[in-house]
Amino acid sequence: MELVVIGSGTAAPTADRTAPAHLVTTGNTRLLLDCGAGTLHRAASLGIPWSEITHVALTHFHMDHWGELPALLFALRWGIEPARSEPLELIGPVDLKARLTALTGALSDWVLEPGYPLTVTEIAPGSTLDLEDGVTLAACKTPHTEHSVAYSVRDNNAFLVYTGDTGPSTELAEWARGCDLMLAECSLPDDRGIDVHLTPSSAGELARIAGAQKLVLTHFYPVFGDSDPGVVAARAFGAAVEVAHDGARFHVESSPK
Ligand SMILES: [Zn+2]
Ligand SMILES: [Zn+2]
Repeated sequence: MELVVIGSGTAAPTADRTAPAHLVTTGNTRLLLDCGAGTLHRAASLGIPWSEITHVALTHFHMDHWGELPALLFALRWGIEPARSEPLELIGPVDLKARLTALTGALSDWVLEPGYPLTVTEIAPGSTLDLEDGVTLAACKTPHTEHSVAYSVRDNNAFLVYTGDTGPSTELAEWARGCDLMLAECSLPDDRGIDVHLTPSSAGELARIAGAQKLVLTHFYPVFGDSDPGVVAARAFGAAVEVAHDGARFHVESSPK
């Protein structure tokens, strides 16, 4: 399993970090986790084959996590030659279908009828979907918004957890137990911590309780400046921590426990 961080940023536009988007590749699955502002152009600039995406899974309905989804649907029809014919599966929290239907009123019918087969699947916290033989996606509720979820992706060799946006949560840590890589949001420094986002210390603590083999931080607000959140997180995690940048790539596989 391979993970590419396309966007390691937030709702705050900066030159070096676009809004959240992450590509997970395993088998025939090309899964995009979140699709915030700047995703498509950053993917293009990184040489990522965005037109080959097979699934998009959204963690919640904050704009920085799904605002560029309509642009992706549109680009797959009118931004590539020949236009896409392969199916695309959209996955998201309960209420996704109603929100996409509402978008057709503003943008037109192509949102749900883009000219290639489009499936919309709402995933309830605690449930699991098969993406292909041997590849599953599961969701866990997170303390962030009414709808927000974290996702896990498993294949026969790897167990990845993406927290989406979340506050500290023992339930989430238990659900993520034993993951090979935890991609955790890290919105704010420790001295600016709030209940609905993680800090370097609370992200490190979450990954430590989960027993994650590796911790990668993402989703940094500009308030971090030049400070290194990885140093603080490593103290709570108990091991070295990676700080993602746009274009960061990670190989995910089970290591001997
Ligand atoms: Zn966010
Ligand atoms: Zn959010």
